[in-house]
Amino acid sequence: MTSKPISWWRTQFGEPAIEAIATAIRQERVGQGPITQGFEDAFAKKLGMKHALVVTSGSVALYLALLAKDIKAGDEVIVPDRTWVASAHAPYMLGAKPILIDTLDEIPVVDSTQLDKVLTPKTKAIMPVHLNGRGCDMDTIIQFAKKHSLAVIEDACQALFSKHSDGSCMGTKGDAGCFSLGTTKLISSGQGGVIVTNDTQYYERLKLVKNHGVVDQFTDRWNQFGFNFKFTDFQSAMVHQQLTTVEERLDHLRKVYERYTNGLDGVKTVKLIPFRGADELPLYVDAETDEREKFIAYMHANQIQCRPFPPSLHTCGYLNSGGSFPNSVRFNRRGLYLPSGPSQSLENVDRVIEVIKKYS
Ligand SMILES: *Cc1c(COP(=O)(O)O)cnc(C)c1O
Repeated sequence: MTSKPISWWRTQFGEPAIEAIATAIRQERVGQGPITQGFEDAFAKKLGMKHALVVTSGSVALYLALLAKDIKAGDEVIVPDRTWVASAHAPYMLGAKPILIDTLDEIPVVDSTQLDKVLTPKTKAIMPVHLNGRGCDMDTIIQFAKKHSLAVIEDACQALFSKHSDGSCMGTKGDAGCFSLGTTKLISSGQGGVIVTNDTQYYERLKLVKNHGVVDQFTDRWNQFGFNFKFTDFQSAMVHQQLTTVEERLDHLRKVYERYTNGLDGVKTVKLIPFRGADELPLYVDAETDEREKFIAYMHANQIQCRPFPPSLHTCGYLNSGGSFPNSVRFNRRGLYLPSGPSQSLENVDRVIEVIKKYS
């Protein structure tokens, strides 16, 4: 038995991406310039937004989005307990305190009915996280934010082109929507992130903060505090090329998910976590299982990598979080990712299903 190992995530870029980077370099476009501007325009347009700003990572996108909303030391930002830790580290970097709340029982997205339980006079923002393409209840969240004058910074890093039931893309309803261009995301430039917004004043502020407060390099004055979070043209070229052909990636992810849904129908040991909306896009194929570590070890022995869910944030000591998180804890114990990704072959998926069936 010498089957090739299957990794939990697979993405490829191919000749067109290589060509795009090579072209940028031949045109002497390396640092941030017109190619980046072109990518930002295309990204905003595709999401139906006025502005997009590309930065060095999804984490930086979240950080800048909060910073440009004046979130500062001592403020509180409401963050779901179940997410990637970047969602909490962004306010933490500003000296603000992430205040954690539990997720829903059936799916690992924030339980918005718990918002008023954690509201204090220090609360300044909410960060809904559309985890793995599953939409948070934005109507409730935005209504709550309006009532209490809070900023809404959407972490849509795992939800690019995933849609709410009203047809709108995730990340387009809050003050800002943040996306990641990391390797385990829909489109990637290795590292990178994007902030989208419809608020022009806020966009101008974000642009300044991204570049040391400098308006333009020929009429420089020191205007305001900022830092260097600029992107590069050759990376923009790579990711713009993927954006123009993103339908292929989306189609493949849907096919992978469908293959699992059909293949695991009736299998008891591994249950796919449901999606509520028909237009929600599963970036990853996530599932719950009893005795997760035993299952992961079994898959590993069969050359198949399954990744456990990241730990619940409240288990992170320095966040000093109180509260009760029974649903997040259950996902923490039982959740995992089956091999997926825009370049995961359907043959690999079939092999994963076959191996799972032998386990049950
Ligand atoms: C990937 C991710 C981030 C951070 O993005 P990076 O580009 O890796 O910095 C933030 N939040 C969530 C939910 C993510 O999945």
